[in-house]
Amino acid sequence: MFKAIVIEKDETGYRASLKDVDESQLPEGDVTVRVSHSTLNYKDGLAITGKGPVVRKFPMVPGVDLVGTVEESSHSSYRVGDAVLLNGWGVGEGHWGGLAQKARLKGEWLVPLPSRFTPQQAMAIGTAGYTAMLCVLALERHGVTPDQGEILVTGAAGGVGSVAVSILSKLGYTVVGVSGRLAESDYIKSLGASEVLERAAFSSAGKPLGRERWAGAVDVVGSHTLANVCATTKYRGIVTACGLAGGMDFPATVAPFILRGVTLVGVDSVMCPRADRLVAWQRLGTDLDIAKLNLITHEIGLAEAIPTATKLLDGQVRGRVVVDVNA
Ligand code: NDP
Repeated sequence: MFKAIVIEKDETGYRASLKDVDESQLPEGDVTVRVSHSTLNYKDGLAITGKGPVVRKFPMVPGVDLVGTVEESSHSSYRVGDAVLLNGWGVGEGHWGGLAQKARLKGEWLVPLPSRFTPQQAMAIGTAGYTAMLCVLALERHGVTPDQGEILVTGAAGGVGSVAVSILSKLGYTVVGVSGRLAESDYIKSLGASEVLERAAFSSAGKPLGRERWAGAVDVVGSHTLANVCATTKYRGIVTACGLAGGMDFPATVAPFILRGVTLVGVDSVMCPRADRLVAWQRLGTDLDIAKLNLITHEIGLAEAIPTATKLLDGQVRGRVVVDVNA
């Protein structure tokens, strides 16, 4: 038996609870992992609370991230005792995920735990941090360099935002954060932002074009915020869009694209090809100040993941949450 958070949906409703699960119930896969840590991402919050249609079959163990040790393997790349990491691939949505003491997975989804990180540090980064890195890589791929001007990061006190601010500032960019929690301004500045702007300045309908300010942006919010970010991005600037914390809609005009040559780059971490993941994790090893991870992260036990999911969706969680599944 092992402990897991299990999401069930039946005629009595939708619920998540901590349960003892028999190992025989683990899904199919060629690698069984003894999980040490998982995390709570926005998507896990949606899955646990049922506030978003994330879970595709029931019962489901949530958790889009996990780190642990291989316990059994028939996959040629992994042996018993290997330290491994998983982000995404629909795990925690359509296949049992990381908020459990055991997981059985496809070996092709795993990556070796980078030697630079402890299991806790890898989960402090998690999907949110790896997505932040994918956004930074997209800015670089499109030629954004620190001398071109300010980079805007929305949702700056959240998981993706906190890691994006940290990476960009370490790389020498001037970073401006946007947050609905101005009480967290000092925190966001301690991660490397030079300025923090109020969320309200971005969250309602704006003009098709505004004063050109951003050389690049990392947006986790979507909706009016993403439209306003595009409208205030400089000529030929690059906006990366990875989130929908403010809404899935995109009420924008084409003006920034056809008059200023702004590029909107979509970023997805879930199905991101393995080669790109390995690059992102390798760059996290060099371009993220590990000392800042302590500022960004707090740790909870498995049972606490359920109430913390509600707090996360209510915007009350700062930075990243690591879940010690054995606590
Ligand atoms: P968090 O909850 O940690 O952070 C989201 C932040 O967004 C909050 O902390 C808050 O920041 C801000 N925010 C929340 N609600 C609103 C709102 N209504 N309007 C404007 N801002 C808001 O989540 P994550 O960082 O884990 O994820 C952020 C987003 O990115 C989510 O939508 C998630 O689904 C998406 N995501 C996408 C991935 C992909 O592969 N494309 C991978 C990972 C995440 P503040 O308090 O500073 O304003």
